[in-house]
Amino acid sequence: MRRKLVVGNWKMHGKREANTSLIEGILNGRPFACDVVVCAPFPFLGDLVAILEGQDVALGAQDCSAHEQGAHTGEVSASMLAEFGCRYVIVGHSERRADHHESHKIVADKGKAALAEGVTPIVCVGETLAQREAGQTEAVITCQLSAVTHTLAQHIDRVVIAYEPVWAIGTGKTATPAQAQAVHALLRAQLAAVTPHASEMRLLYGGSVTADNARTLFSQPDIDGGLIGGASLKASEFVAICKAGA
Ligand code: PEP
Repeated sequence: MRRKLVVGNWKMHGKREANTSLIEGILNGRPFACDVVVCAPFPFLGDLVAILEGQDVALGAQDCSAHEQGAHTGEVSASMLAEFGCRYVIVGHSERRADHHESHKIVADKGKAALAEGVTPIVCVGETLAQREAGQTEAVITCQLSAVTHTLAQHIDRVVIAYEPVWAIGTGKTATPAQAQAVHALLRAQLAAVTPHASEMRLLYGGSVTADNARTLFSQPDIDGGLIGGASLKASEFVAICKAGA
């Protein structure tokens, strides 16, 4: 049985003092009957690793370099994240694919770099509204996933996949449970073609998840939790979503 996973993506939000009270609010909401991760901006990782030391909420980052080290100004390597106690890193978020022109190959290479350092990549895939309306959802997801399965080969079962329809991110337009489940089932079937461990892999849904819709989404057979943006910035809302992962 797969244990649910709820991941908060703070995006480019936060201030040191406010972060402390947000994290304390989350910790005060325990116990959670699921795994919980907070992915914060790079500068805050040092503060957060100290607060989360020994706690059952894990730390993650929102991106990493595909390179190990070297002349890559502005980039942060997976080994640096590991040194700061990050157990997870989001790669291929649609905002990075769009704003930084990250190709499927770069996303896959970032996943590989993370795994090499023992950091679990949370690989995001998802179609735009135009692609969905053109009936291209399956083709887009297949293309994004196959770049990752090709690069990670037999290690693919060590990643978390997050299905995040671009049209649902930050828009308040959540995919229906049926729409999300259909894509998750497709993802799992495609993973099953390349790994015997597909049924153990965690597939998250992301896109306007709230305390009100989390339970129904998470109760779908192939949805193993969520990647939460806006709603992860308010402790009470995030805690309620984590409770929905019970
Ligand atoms: C995200 O940032 O990955 C996300 C899903 O955002 P939101 O929950 O705000 O839609």
